[in-house]
Amino acid sequence: MSQARLASCVPLPIEHKTLVSVVEKAKDWALMHGVGMRDKQHFNKDTIQIAPFVLLPSPFPRTEFTKAVDLQPVLNELMHKVAHDDKFLENTLQNALEVDDFTAKLYDIWLKVREEGIAQSQLSLGLFRSDYLMQKADGNRIKQVEFNTIASSFGALTSNLPAMSRYILKQLGYGDMIKNMPENRALSGLCSGITAAFDLFGVSDAIILFVVEEVSYNICDQRFHEFYISETRPELQIVRKTLNEIYEETSINEKGQLVLDSKPVAVVYYRSGYEPAQYPSVREWDARLRVERSTAIKCPSIHYQLAGTKKVQQALAEPGVLEKFMGGGTPTERVRDIFTGLYSLDFDESGERAVEMAIADTERFVLKPQREGGGNNLYGADVRDALLKMRHSRERAAYILMERILPPLVSGYVVRPGAEVPPPVTDLVSELGIFGVIIGTKDKIYCNKQVGHMLRTKLADANEGGVAAGLGALDSPYLL
Ligand code: ADP
Ligand code: MG
Ligand code: MG
Repeated sequence: MSQARLASCVPLPIEHKTLVSVVEKAKDWALMHGVGMRDKQHFNKDTIQIAPFVLLPSPFPRTEFTKAVDLQPVLNELMHKVAHDDKFLENTLQNALEVDDFTAKLYDIWLKVREEGIAQSQLSLGLFRSDYLMQKADGNRIKQVEFNTIASSFGALTSNLPAMSRYILKQLGYGDMIKNMPENRALSGLCSGITAAFDLFGVSDAIILFVVEEVSYNICDQRFHEFYISETRPELQIVRKTLNEIYEETSINEKGQLVLDSKPVAVVYYRSGYEPAQYPSVREWDARLRVERSTAIKCPSIHYQLAGTKKVQQALAEPGVLEKFMGGGTPTERVRDIFTGLYSLDFDESGERAVEMAIADTERFVLKPQREGGGNNLYGADVRDALLKMRHSRERAAYILMERILPPLVSGYVVRPGAEVPPPVTDLVSELGIFGVIIGTKDKIYCNKQVGHMLRTKLADANEGGVAAGLGALDSPYLL
């Protein structure tokens, strides 16, 4: 049966005085355990403010949570195969490349390193995150929103969060509820991917390079990886550099190694480089190409990044495509089951039909360009406006059309920096992300596992819920 609202873990509202007191405790807990971010309005490296979070864990059906967790290794392997299928990537991205300069630039790097014979023989590291919303009209079963292959964030912060929720539940006298909160070891799991890649690289004095933005607002999430690795593997050195610094400070030696400060780089972990603004000049693109040409294990490699495009997601939903990669067995059916309607907007007959269908019923769809990082999709009337404009232009091939998923509501308190205390009870919806780690070459997979989860909850009437964008809030699942 479809449920329009999932029951919260404790009866709401919480009595005013108690609420004020636990919100204050939760904020201090969050600040003192690094559930934080830098303030975009008043950026200052000396201070960190709380990241927006949901006070109590949000309800999520146990069967759907388990389904997503169990599917992760299957999806990791699928994406690994997709990334190593040159013909498939070429055919799938062809039309979008003509009109999308950013994807075309990534693609050109891939072509270059392929011609040089590099990409295929090398190890890639994937720190992936598959995202889901529940579809209310389909018995709250999960549907995949997207699959992230680059800079999948919030593994660290959401690993910290359940401890806060447990503390708050105890304060409220609901300590026995804690058993319904799943363990989350995303941080250690993601770090184990980085260190395993380092070990496979096999050069003991090599370093690990994090590629970062000019200004990192989501600093806690990034630093925790660094701190965790430094604590568990003190011999490893981690360096943070922007693409521009990589352009200026690195070279490739005669062994093909990327060299920084006279040391070979074993692993390059991108927390930047997923959107056009992060490549303001040709220097950043040159840096990306240099890294790609080197023997360093890239997280992600350029072909992993291309496999994570929305266009590939849409192509995987076409008849026969999953079978091509996975055969016709049960895992294929399980993957198909999480797909929702995905349509190409290519300049052909089926693209034409999709355009007409979306113009006729805009509320049913989301229009998505080949972009990452949130805030790029179009909804409602904007879908119609954009499609009317692009109807007769090849430009539309840069987008895909996706059926809009309408999740059930949950009630909760969102705690934001600088907001009034206590917050009101609000209608929210949650998006689940499952983290996966994979390491392999075209021919051999060395490691493939599910390593944890994150829940991100937004106001029910917001289209998107980016936490860094200030719309969403970090959360933990409470399994029903
Ligand atoms: P990005 O790579 O920019 O994160 P997403 O595909 O995840 O792109 O879209 C951003 C957000 O938009 C999602 O987190 C979700 O809140 C919303 N969204 C995306 N696709 C859908 C959909 N099909 N139905 C409902 N909401 C969606
Ligand atoms: Mg994404
Ligand atoms: Mg997303």
